[in-house]
Amino acid sequence: MAAISHMTVYLAELKVQTPRHHGVGSVVGGIDNVFVCLRDTEGRCGWGEASPWPVFTGTAQSAAGALDTHFRPHVVGKEPSGVAGIMHIANKTVAAAPEAKAALEMALYDLYGQQCGLPVSELLGGRVRDEIPLSISIADPDFGRDKDLAKRAHGDGILIFKVKTGFAEHDFDLMRLENLRSEFPDVDIRVDYNQGLVAHEALAKLRDITLFKPTFIEQPVPADNWRAMTALTAAIDTPIMADESVFNAVDAYRAAEAKIADLFSVKIMKSGGMRAGQDISAVAKSAGIACYGGDMFESGLAHLAGTHMIAATENISLGCEFYQARYYLTEDVLEVPFACDNGKVQVPTTGGLGGAVDEGKIRKWASVIRE
Ligand SMILES: [Mg+2]
Repeated sequence: MAAISHMTVYLAELKVQTPRHHGVGSVVGGIDNVFVCLRDTEGRCGWGEASPWPVFTGTAQSAAGALDTHFRPHVVGKEPSGVAGIMHIANKTVAAAPEAKAALEMALYDLYGQQCGLPVSELLGGRVRDEIPLSISIADPDFGRDKDLAKRAHGDGILIFKVKTGFAEHDFDLMRLENLRSEFPDVDIRVDYNQGLVAHEALAKLRDITLFKPTFIEQPVPADNWRAMTALTAAIDTPIMADESVFNAVDAYRAAEAKIADLFSVKIMKSGGMRAGQDISAVAKSAGIACYGGDMFESGLAHLAGTHMIAATENISLGCEFYQARYYLTEDVLEVPFACDNGKVQVPTTGGLGGAVDEGKIRKWASVIRE
């Protein structure tokens, strides 16, 4: 198959519509993401995206540096069909930097899939599902604006809301849950603290939250406080989900042994790619732990990669939160928005990731371009 002849790395700011607040970290104005384009000798282009969140994973600047300086020598001149070997070298070359590795793997699979005419989900083992229920997040400090978002999403058929809690007063969280429960009785409501509670106050607050019967409560306390996660999981009937506490398969193994959660959130930006996300799911499955398709502040490009991973991974069964491109970014990088029908993300069936990137937009927004 055709080899990779060019690699271009972009560091670009994507504008967002409204502020978002979380237990840890706010997003205001825009987000820095990294895009990588791998061109082959026949003119195809495979695209990848790194979407770091500094309070959670790392920085866009370090992701761009890993791709441009450290991964480039192991990519140009190689065939994308060697994706597993290239990722093995990437993992040996740079510690951590999971978003950069996710971007590299995404671009390699996109290009490989285009070359052989197969969607990425087929390259990851084949589809177990053709559509994935979509969740939106309620995280605006202005609840009135979030209500408008909720009404619009509900009108589009979305029946999962994840309420971001712990960034303001406890009463604000209870008010929003009560309001959403009464106005949207058919919606599956989940709660995500993004590490926002201190351990000694967590149990009392979670007991209040459980009165609204959320499907799960995600990451109530700081990532490294596994002792508190274990205690809360044992004390609360509502399933507890680990997100920031579980980045990779080794974390998943230890977390399952320590019983820190009933559920795991899998994100390609934590694991370092789709196959590494499948590894987490496999460990979780062996422990009877179901997984959820989480994400960072991604454009439609990274959403597509997450969609293919979930499509090919039976145990990531709790839906996805790939709402940012459609409901949060001012403008997406895909020429045509990724398909979402009646509240469910549709898994693409064309070769590669199945979405055309508007390179002109990325060039326009980029502050750094390395070719
Ligand atoms: Mg989370």
